[in-house]
Amino acid sequence: MTARRTAPSRKRASPVKPVATRTRTAMGERAATRKPVATHEPAATRKPAATRKPAATREPAATRKPVGTAKLSAARTSAAAGQTAASREPVKQASARSAGGPPALRGIVAALRELHGAADTAPVSDPWEHLLRENVAYLVDDARRESTFRALREHVGTSPEQILAADLGKLAQVIERGGMQPEHRARKLRRCAELAQDIGLETLRDAVCAAGPDGRATGVARRMLKKFPGIGEPGADKLLLLARRAETLAPDSNALRVLVRLGFAEPCDDYAATYKAAATAVAGQLGTDPEWRIAAHQLLRRHGQEVCRRAEPQCGRCPVRPHCATGLVTA
Ligand code: SF4
Repeated sequence: MTARRTAPSRKRASPVKPVATRTRTAMGERAATRKPVATHEPAATRKPAATRKPAATREPAATRKPVGTAKLSAARTSAAAGQTAASREPVKQASARSAGGPPALRGIVAALRELHGAADTAPVSDPWEHLLRENVAYLVDDARRESTFRALREHVGTSPEQILAADLGKLAQVIERGGMQPEHRARKLRRCAELAQDIGLETLRDAVCAAGPDGRATGVARRMLKKFPGIGEPGADKLLLLARRAETLAPDSNALRVLVRLGFAEPCDDYAATYKAAATAVAGQLGTDPEWRIAAHQLLRRHGQEVCRRAEPQCGRCPVRPHCATGLVTA
């Protein structure tokens, strides 16, 4: 199945708008919501309309010097994508974006499954194991995180008691290959173990199991999970998703980038706000099947890691490009 067959076809806007309103960043910022560059220029420095370059001869946005608050706007957009100035994709003129909001999530996920294959259908569902995996490594790929977790299990053990009994130096040595600051990560593991002892592992697991789509039980589980290092709202969502207890997509930063570029949320410099906007936008399309939600979470994440990368997304091999505002303007 391809995106063209599974997602609804989209109308192209017509007539073509002036460049000032069509220019957008590679993050998928919608032209309709972005102020024209000309309006950001101080009046004293603005050229009269008659003397401005015609649209066809104006230099691309990437090479133009931002003026006034337009510079801030561009910086905000990049920050929302987690981009540095050096790695930012070139800004290109947008093709007309169809009206009517983002594409259908089901079609997007089906197209990504065609490209990437089936998602892992049996990810770890135990919240304690996930808490340890989150904290055992930092800024490494999944394979390195998993091998570091295995080293912890093999040489120290994963019970709170085993982790607390280990010398801090030894703990750091065992998890050294998990990225930067092994001692700091070792302290976070010890903090996890202390909290797990305070709360009780079974109490923690029961709280997660008792959580449902809504209600007090979910709030209790969230509050409990968020006490642990490295777990904020997105992390709590992810643990509840993988435990099949929450109707959420819980996009990580890679999946969130894909959703933003597809138009499910506007980019902004506030990660939490972008996350919330994207989660809200897809909420009505998640359905009741937890396995589908987990697969969607994994496929969007993998797509963000391998194809829709922060810098230089490979739009040419992306099956959802026809539905993507950013892909339509990216070579
Ligand atoms: S076309 Fe695909 S790879 Fe390119 S920005 Fe859109 S979702 Fe990402």
